[in-house]
Formats: sequence, C-alpha cells, structure tokens
Amino acid sequence: MYYPFYYDSTYILVLIGAVLSMLASAHVQSTFNKYSKVRSRLGYAGKDVAQRMLQMNGINDVTVRHTPGNLSDNYNPMSHTVNLSDTVYDSVSVAALGVAAHECGHAMQHHNGYLPLSIRAAILPAANLGSKLGLPICIIGLFMGRMGTTVATIGLWLFAFAVLFQIVTLPVEFNASHRAVLWLEQAGILDDQELKAARAVLTAAALTYVAAAAASVLQLLRLFLIVSGGRRRD
Ligand SMILES: [Zn+2]
Repeated sequence: MYYPFYYDSTYILVLIGAVLSMLASAHVQSTFNKYSKVRSRLGYAGKDVAQRMLQMNGINDVTVRHTPGNLSDNYNPMSHTVNLSDTVYDSVSVAALGVAAHECGHAMQHHNGYLPLSIRAAILPAANLGSKLGLPICIIGLFMGRMGTTVATIGLWLFAFAVLFQIVTLPVEFNASHRAVLWLEQAGILDDQELKAARAVLTAAALTYVAAAAASVLQLLRLFLIVSGGRRRD
C-alpha cells in the first residue's frame, strides 16, 4: 500500500513554502511597526489621504471606512469601500499613508478596468473551488488506486486554478503600490525621505503575496510529483 501525503519526501516543499510565508509576514510586521512610528511632515491621517486620492482621481462612488484589526486594510469592489484598519485610519504615520494609498490604488484599478484585476475576478470562483476541493479530491484519487488517477488529475487541475489566482494577484498588488507611491509623490503628500519609507512598507507587503504564490506553486509541484509517481506505480 502506498501512503501518499504522510511520509513522502516531497513534504519538504510544503515546509519551504511555510517558512517563506512566515519570514514574509514577520518582515512586513516589523517594517510596518518601524514606520508606524514615523509621523508624516504634513500630518494628514490615512483616511484624509484616501479620500483625497479617490477624489483627485475622479472616483466619487467609493467610501472610506474604518475596519477593526491590524493590517486588515482592503478595497472591497462589491461594496465600493476602502476599508482602513486601526493602525491606518486615524494614523498620521508614513506607513499608514502608504497603506491607505495602496488600497485606493485598487479602487483606481477597479475604476479604470485594469485587466489583471478583471482576470482575477473571472477566475475567482474556480480558484475558490480549487483551494477547497483540489487537495481532498487529489487525496481521494490517490487512495482509489489505478482507477483514481483520473480523479487525482482532476484535483490537481482544480488546485492549479487556486495557484493561478495567487500568481495573477502579484501584478495587481505591485500595480496598486506603484499607483500609490506615484500619487503620494505627485500630490506632494510625502517628501523623498517619507516616500522611501512608504515604499519599504509596500514592498514588504508585496513580498507576503510573493511568498504565498511561491508556497502554492510548491504545493502544486508536490501534488504533481505525487500524482505522477502514483501513475508510474500502476
Ligand atoms: Zn493590495
């Protein structure tokens, strides 16, 4: 009997992914904490900067709201809201302004029909299905023996959609940060030194998405190795 998923050496790929994700989240937390203590020269709060950025870009149908939590900031395209967390909404730090502008960058993408955002929305249902069912279907397939190879391959393809989603997320995130920094500079909200700090925070945040994408690619590679290994055993 072949016991996949428990004692196989490909598990190292999952561990590498987990370590990368942990390092990235520790890095963003420490970078954010560092620049949360740096007050911006003009003294605007995150919410002011968000409102101003939306307004100056002709976006009048998006509301800026407060959301509880830490680093839980997001743009919700369904409710047309930029949601800023405890450490961003009222904060006048350069870190907060970077994050607030980044979320407005997503609102701008939505407003302008930025293509990767539309692609991401289109694959979201398949990606949700893949992240919930891909792995279980794969496991069931592998335990079915010879008959199960097709089932396992279906699980693998479903999981691939979840991975694709994570990959398409990368240009969306980098582009939102790019729009944020550009606007903060052009609108004269942050000076050169402050821009450097905001950029550091946003780069650290982007790295968490890179780590998540890398972890899911490694997981997909592992599933592929196990399924193709199972196939060879037949
Ligand atoms: Zn983002």
